[in-house]
Amino acid sequence: MKIRTRYAPSPTGKMHVGNLRSALYEFLIAKHDGGDFMLRIEDTDRERFVEGATEIIYRTLEKTGLCHDEGPDKDGGYGPYVQSQRTKTGIYMKYAKELIEKGQAYYCFCDKERLASLKTEVVEGKEISMYDKHCLSLSREEIEANLEAGKPFVIRQNIPNEGRTTFHDELYGDITVENVELDDMILIKSDGFPTYNFANVVDDHTMNITHVVRGNEYLSSSPKYQRLYDAFGWQSPVYVHLPLITDENHKKLAKRSENGSYIFEEMVEQGLLPEAIVNYIALLGWSPEDNREIFSLDELIQEFDYHRISRSPAVFDSVKLRWMNGEYMKAMDFDKFYEMAEPYLKQVLKKDLDLKKIASMVKTRIEVLPDIMGHVDFFEELPEYDVAMYTHKKMKTDRTSSLEVLKEVLPILEEQTDYSNDGLYQSLLKYIEEKGCKNGYVMWPIRTAVSGKQMTPAGATEIMEVLGREESLKRIRKGIEKLENDGAF
Ligand code: GLU
Repeated sequence: MKIRTRYAPSPTGKMHVGNLRSALYEFLIAKHDGGDFMLRIEDTDRERFVEGATEIIYRTLEKTGLCHDEGPDKDGGYGPYVQSQRTKTGIYMKYAKELIEKGQAYYCFCDKERLASLKTEVVEGKEISMYDKHCLSLSREEIEANLEAGKPFVIRQNIPNEGRTTFHDELYGDITVENVELDDMILIKSDGFPTYNFANVVDDHTMNITHVVRGNEYLSSSPKYQRLYDAFGWQSPVYVHLPLITDENHKKLAKRSENGSYIFEEMVEQGLLPEAIVNYIALLGWSPEDNREIFSLDELIQEFDYHRISRSPAVFDSVKLRWMNGEYMKAMDFDKFYEMAEPYLKQVLKKDLDLKKIASMVKTRIEVLPDIMGHVDFFEELPEYDVAMYTHKKMKTDRTSSLEVLKEVLPILEEQTDYSNDGLYQSLLKYIEEKGCKNGYVMWPIRTAVSGKQMTPAGATEIMEVLGREESLKRIRKGIEKLENDGAF
């Protein structure tokens, strides 16, 4: 049988790492086996519906390369693919009525006040109330009369108070619950829309879905879904409930943390690459047989075996994601990198500088694009710096030696007309040889003087090549002046 998976987001806001992981795993399970990946929009909760959220879903799938084979915009013969449109076809009501006929569901006319007066229990910190089956005992006549009078109603699932229900999850195995613990959940709401709880079953069945992948917050409701499949006499899909994703403090992932956002589009704005995000998210709960970590989407399709998904919570490690992003930057084609780096370079560099050269200096040194700015800002303007920076133990330099070197190289650099990296290097090398010292003894003070920074993306001569003759000399003179005016002398 051809594998068919679906990503079934509710358009309730921005797309979060958790949603994206479900989408990715659904995509990979289908594609690994040459199956179809479908997009279904679950918009039946009209109160939570957010304008524009559907567009975010489309944009995100496109940017991440998770192309759907079918969906609202690509008819594959199973439409409509939007639940509000499916509702209009009457499909959910038809199946709910079928359950009523079978004694597996019933009309409920209880009003808010009555429901509010039901006993509540606190389960896992949440107050929940179980419906007391009050309306199950209504006679056919009473029901007819209520319906005719236009009394608002919902349709509830009828779950017996005795017995047990078992359902199977690929990762968690068989899960059995006492029926008495299962609430007679609402299938059709008073506004005529189905609940997620009902629509997911009807849709997954009627759309021939073979594998359902979703967060394990749905694990506790799944026995109720199983009862629906059984009541209809339908085969349930293969269930894969995914482990929780936590932050570094082992808390459920919020939308953002001080380490960055967990919302896809915000992560991209913060300089992360969609490919790196996808690669990182693939590893949030799944691991390959070896210790490999860098995977393109095609490689993930090859490797992805959902049986290797773990049940233990996955920790979102922002440091690791940034590292991975850096690896993607390093491996990236230069022109593509430059296109992305240019806006960041231009934010801090207004002078006429060779931006391509500067971009090539930072390409292998940054983890995320905005890091660029802190690496290159000194090209625009020499920062205020402390002369203590001239002292470097390993290079065997101090303020006195640096002042001497800068004074000696100044006339050489003044005479120099060829300000190419090579030309500068050759001239300085000659001086170094004559002086009989190590490279760093000369290069360190020059680099400090021309950059004002302890760490730079390139060496002294490469920096001077970009700065040009005039600016380089200005900075060397400034270094001499700073050292001469330093109180230590
Ligand atoms: N609409 C549900 C959600 O966004 C989908 C859950 C599922 O995949 O069944 O959480």
